Amino acid sequence: MLTDIEAELTGQERAVRDAAHKFALEVMRPAAKQLDALADPADVIAPNSILWDVFKKHKAAGLNDIEASTAELTALQRARIRALYSEEMGWGDSGLAISLGVANFHKTFVMMSGRPSLVDRYLKSSSAGDEIGCWAVTEPDHGSDQLGFTEPHFTDPSVRGNCIATRDGDDYVIRGQKSAWVSNGTIATVAALFCQVDPSEGLRSGGVAVVPLDLPGVSRGKPTDKLGQRPLNQGEIFFDEVRIPAEYMVVGKENYQNIVQMILTGANASMGQMFVGLGRASLEHAIGYAAERTQGGRPINQHQSVKSRLFKMFMQVEAARALARRVAYYNATNPPLLQYSIASKVFCTQTAFDVSSEAVQIFGGVGLTKEFPVEKLMRDARASMIEDGCNEILGLVGAALL
Ligand SMILES: Cc1cc2nc3c(=O)[nH]c(=O)nc-3n(C[C@H](O)[C@H](O)[C@H](O)COP(=O)(O)OP(=O)(O)OC[C@H]3O[C@@H](n4cnc5c(N)ncnc54)[C@H](O)[C@@H]3O)c2cc1C
Repeated sequence: MLTDIEAELTGQERAVRDAAHKFALEVMRPAAKQLDALADPADVIAPNSILWDVFKKHKAAGLNDIEASTAELTALQRARIRALYSEEMGWGDSGLAISLGVANFHKTFVMMSGRPSLVDRYLKSSSAGDEIGCWAVTEPDHGSDQLGFTEPHFTDPSVRGNCIATRDGDDYVIRGQKSAWVSNGTIATVAALFCQVDPSEGLRSGGVAVVPLDLPGVSRGKPTDKLGQRPLNQGEIFFDEVRIPAEYMVVGKENYQNIVQMILTGANASMGQMFVGLGRASLEHAIGYAAERTQGGRPINQHQSVKSRLFKMFMQVEAARALARRVAYYNATNPPLLQYSIASKVFCTQTAFDVSSEAVQIFGGVGLTKEFPVEKLMRDARASMIEDGCNEILGLVGAALL
C-alpha cells in the first residue's frame, strides 16, 4: 500500500480507514471479480448473488452509517474520515462503492423534509436499514440536460421532461420514466425522484419526491448491460399514474435548482475521492507487476522508461488525492462551492482513467486479459467520465460559476 501522507491522522481516522481497507480487500474485490464476469447483468442481482453478502458485510463492519457514528465530531473531522473511507471503497471496487453509497441517497431528503411519515419509515423503523435508495434524475431524452443547470436549455419552456409529477388534490400523480442509468435502479426500494412539476417552465421547474417503489404503477426495466462498473446495478424505473401524498414532494420548484447544485456538489466531491482509490489501485498493481516481470534480462522496473512511467502515475494519483481531499475539507467547513467539486470529479476520474490505462500498458499483453485486474479497472474508470455528469458538461457548469 502507498504511504498516506495526510498530516496527523488520528486513531479514529486510522481505525475507519483500516476497517474500510479490510472490507475492500476481503469482501469487495473478490465479489466484484465474480460479478464483473457475469455475462447477464440480471445475475448480478439474483437472490443468490454475492452482491447481497457485500451489502450485509458492509453493515456488519459498521461502515454503512459513518455519518451517524461520527456525529459528535466537527465538520472537518467528519470530512477527513469520509475522504479516507471513500478512497478505500473506490480502491476495493468503484461499482460496488457507488451501489453502497447511493443506497443511502434517499436519507438526505427524508431528513431535509422532517416529515414524520417519511422519518419513521426510512430513518427510525427497524427495517430502515434494509431499504435501498437511488438517485433517479436522468431520463431517456435528458441526460446532460438534467445536470447542466447553468445552460440556456434549463429554463427553456419548450423542453419537456420524460417524468412529470402533477398535483391532484392532496396527492401528486407521477407519469413517465427515468433512464436506464439510474444506479440501483432495478433493486432500489425507494427513490429520490427528481422530476418536472411544471412543464410550462422547463426543466428548472422540477421537484424532488421521496417515492416508495412498492407503490402501484411502479415498474422496472431490465438491468443495463455495460462496459464498466458491471457490479453496479442500473436500470429504468417507470411510473404509470403513481400516486404519492403531496408531503412526499419534499423539494418544490422554488428550490429545485439550488438542490440540484447542492447534490452535485456532494456527489462530485465523493466521486473524486472514490476514483483516487481506483487510480491508486491501478498504480499499486503496476508497481507489483513491474517488479516481477522480467524482460531484457532484468525486471521491467529496472528499465528507465518503465521507472519514469511509474513515477508519473504516482505523481498523478497524489495530485488527484490532494485536490479531492482539499475540496472535501473546504466544502465541509464553508458554504460549499460546486466548481471545486467539479474540478475534483473531472480531474480525479480523468486521472483514474489515464493511470489505469497506463497500468494496462505496463502489464503488456496480459494487461488485456481477464486474468489480471487492470483491464477491469480501466473499464470502470471509463464509465466514471460519464457518470454523475459527462466530464465536459460538468466543465460547462463549473466554468459558468467562475
Ligand atoms: C456508471 C454510471 C452511473 C450513473 N448513475 C446515475 C444515477 O444514479 N442516476 C441517474 O439518474 N443517472 C445516472 N447516470 C446517468 C449519467 O448521469 C448520464 O449518463 C450523463 O449525465 C450523460 O447523459 P447521457 O448518457 O444521456 O448523454 P448525453 O447527455 O446524451 O450526452 C451525449 C454527448 O453529448 C454531449 N453533450 C450533451 N449535452 C451537451 C451540451 N449542452 N453541450 C455540449 N455537449 C453536450 C455530452 O458531453 C456527451 O459527449 C449514470 C451513468 C453512468 C455511466
